[in-house]
Amino acid sequence: MDFRDAPREAAFRAEARAFVEAHAPKRWRHPFDDGVDERELIDAQKAWQRTLFEHGWAAILWPREYGGRGLGPIEQIIWNQELARAGVGETLFVVGIAMAGPTIIAHGTPEQKARFLPPLLRGDEIWCQLFSEPGAGSDLAAVAARAVREPGSERPEGGGDWLVSGQKTWCSGAHYSDYGILLARTDPKLPKHKGISYFLLDMHAPGIATRPLRQMSGGAHFNEVFLDEVRIPDAARLGPENAGWSAAMTTLLNERMALGGTGGFFSFAELAAHARAHPERLDALTRDRLAQLYCWDKTLELLNARVVTKLGRGVIPDAESSVMKLALARILSAGADLGLRLAGPDALRRHGPWQHQYLTAPSLHIAGGTDEIQKNLVAERVLGLPREGRGDRDVPFETLRRS
Ligand SMILES: Cc1cc2nc3c(=O)[nH]c(=O)nc-3n(C[C@H](O)[C@H](O)[C@H](O)COP(=O)(O)OP(=O)(O)OC[C@H]3O[C@@H](n4cnc5c(N)ncnc54)[C@H](O)[C@@H]3O)c2cc1C
Repeated sequence: MDFRDAPREAAFRAEARAFVEAHAPKRWRHPFDDGVDERELIDAQKAWQRTLFEHGWAAILWPREYGGRGLGPIEQIIWNQELARAGVGETLFVVGIAMAGPTIIAHGTPEQKARFLPPLLRGDEIWCQLFSEPGAGSDLAAVAARAVREPGSERPEGGGDWLVSGQKTWCSGAHYSDYGILLARTDPKLPKHKGISYFLLDMHAPGIATRPLRQMSGGAHFNEVFLDEVRIPDAARLGPENAGWSAAMTTLLNERMALGGTGGFFSFAELAAHARAHPERLDALTRDRLAQLYCWDKTLELLNARVVTKLGRGVIPDAESSVMKLALARILSAGADLGLRLAGPDALRRHGPWQHQYLTAPSLHIAGGTDEIQKNLVAERVLGLPREGRGDRDVPFETLRRS
């Protein structure tokens, strides 16, 4: 492992740091924070995204021909580190830039790229992800939302409108999004991975109802989304009919890479400062837990360095992102728990940074693939254990028993 920036990387870091120091918003509000004025947050983040766009920093990994910076994963990691250093956290554009955009670039038609990529990059349109359903989360290929061709809508050039009905859930930001990436079943007679199509859904279309889901942190950041015969033109289908699983894999791979980073989630330095401010609460057990967290945090940092080194050699990391996500979720939960313990009676207050971290940490054990699913991946790819048995891969979806 090499911990130092190579000269090219050091030059990139200096350029990124100079830009971020000159332009980043001075006060960053996280979309999950309690009491955030959502309209204000959207306006502020759109303004920041436009600034990034105007200076060529909107998408580090996207090819230059689509308005990106055309750089690699190492530069993306450096960029993320520099944003975290300046206190700039997650943006409302993460689904658009990190997930929808790369999928459209990989699978879209020239018309779809021309229509969707520029406004997404400029920050004019916010995207959400409509994948999960009440019966399809870890087992995403079980999506049951149904898309059928509208009778009589066939066009001379081929294709016709689709009518989509069903229920999606846990859709972050769906209530303020302009577009959604949507998986729907177009042929239930095919096995479950094969009868799915991928659509780019106009969230302002008639027939869409979003209902907020309140989190235990107090916010209502994600939603149930009900689709009632929502019309989608065939031109908004991404990739071939019934072959949406391949595009979905592109999205999920990009999601895992976006979530794998460590920046901005947890700061050991903040926890240590909190501990120093409360020496009266530093009993032997608390000191021990603090030391353990320091070791975990350092281990995660080393793992991150290993991933960066691999990327630098042109190797795509495999199970490391699963290990990193597992470790990060555990560190976040344990850090929040210790932060509250050190706060003493103040922990009983409704609001506070450690309260907030304590209430949001559980979501990281679930979002983007649960702990158990990551452990399955580690078991198969690191430990070489047999793959999980799957008897439903070649059976028509309509014959499967579903919850
Ligand atoms: C903060 C947050 C934001 C999210 N945002 C979005 C979004 O914007 N769009 C979207 O589409 N989805 C979103 N999700 C949904 C997320 O992708 C799912 O919650 C996740 O994939 C798990 O699916 P599930 O909730 O249906 O749980 P289930 O899959 O029903 O799992 C229930 C339990 O069973 C375990 N389990 C399931 N299968 C296995 C297995 N094979 N082996 C071992 N254990 C297993 C799980 O680990 C879990 O403990 C979000 C979730 C969170 C928490």
